[in-house]
Amino acid sequence: MSKNYGVYIHIPFCRSKCGYCAFVSLTDMSLRQAYVDVLLREIESCPESGSDVDTVYIGGGTPSCLYDGAISSVLKKVYSTFKVDRNAEITVECNPESATQTFADECKSSGVNRISIGLQSASDSILRSIGRVHDRARFISALGILGSRFDNISSDIILGLPEQTVSDIETAVKIISDNCTHASVYALTVENGTPLYRSGYTPDDDLIAEFYDRACDLLYAHGFERYEVSNFARSGKQSRHNNKYWACEPYIGFGVAAHGYDGNDIRYGHTDDVHEYLSAPLRKTVCLSDKDRYNEYVMLRLRTECGIDRNAFCGRFGYDFIDRNATILKKMEKDGLIICNGETVRISPKYVFVMNGIIEELMLD
Ligand code: SF4
Repeated sequence: MSKNYGVYIHIPFCRSKCGYCAFVSLTDMSLRQAYVDVLLREIESCPESGSDVDTVYIGGGTPSCLYDGAISSVLKKVYSTFKVDRNAEITVECNPESATQTFADECKSSGVNRISIGLQSASDSILRSIGRVHDRARFISALGILGSRFDNISSDIILGLPEQTVSDIETAVKIISDNCTHASVYALTVENGTPLYRSGYTPDDDLIAEFYDRACDLLYAHGFERYEVSNFARSGKQSRHNNKYWACEPYIGFGVAAHGYDGNDIRYGHTDDVHEYLSAPLRKTVCLSDKDRYNEYVMLRLRTECGIDRNAFCGRFGYDFIDRNATILKKMEKDGLIICNGETVRISPKYVFVMNGIIEELMLD
């Protein structure tokens, strides 16, 4: 297991609230300065101070809607608190409407080397209907600004939005393929409590599967490879930070709703309430049982193209994954659900999008 930590920092502010969004974010910008002040203090006083770090991810929310100088002060604090590898991957998320030249310049001069920008759909009417602030033209002009400073840009598409057609997926993938090195392609989840949920909208699973297959085909044709069920990258451009999550490696979370993990049996989270965080930025710790650790590892590894490596599993858990599950793995292999070469177990490509049922059979009750 890597001895380096990843660092995740949550910025809970957005210009407006999207109709499907269940993330923790506020549209009241008056708390931004107070939030950053508390964040800086939380980073400075964390128990992992002085540790090695090789990925930093500032996400949200919309980090690009902070005030000028905020990203730079947060990153300065990270650099002075941890031993950050000189080749660390430093990602900042943004949205098109706030991806300005000033933002791009500030990120660049603060050591950021990877940008993630939300597209979601290439159709202006869909974007409007889900409450996004940007339109397609604004997204493309933001890519022009970011592309002048960064050569590693990720973007994302949501599958199953209201009124979405395969032609929207094709246009979105084309824009991303022409301008980005990484793509995240997610199925829409209609979360309880969101305006989309209250509207009674239910995505069509068959349509989502069709969209996913089309997105995969186009991304492959443009030189992207899938490395996790929802994530595709050009060679050498996988998200090193997200790979830590899927390998159950350690990461430190700062900010409201942020989670951290020691890489073994301790997880922690912060409150989802911004006001509570501002008055007490505390971690709530949970100790994982052996069953929790096993289930998390199996679930996260099987989402990736590499799957479960026999030696890595044995090093972590002290027993053999393939021997332990020999009967069910043989049956799954015979049914074409998994590919097992004796050293690794992974989901067959044609079942990747419907993998949950397969994974559940391998998890402990
Ligand atoms: S921009 Fe992202 S975090 Fe903000 S409201 Fe929309 S989906 Fe949620």
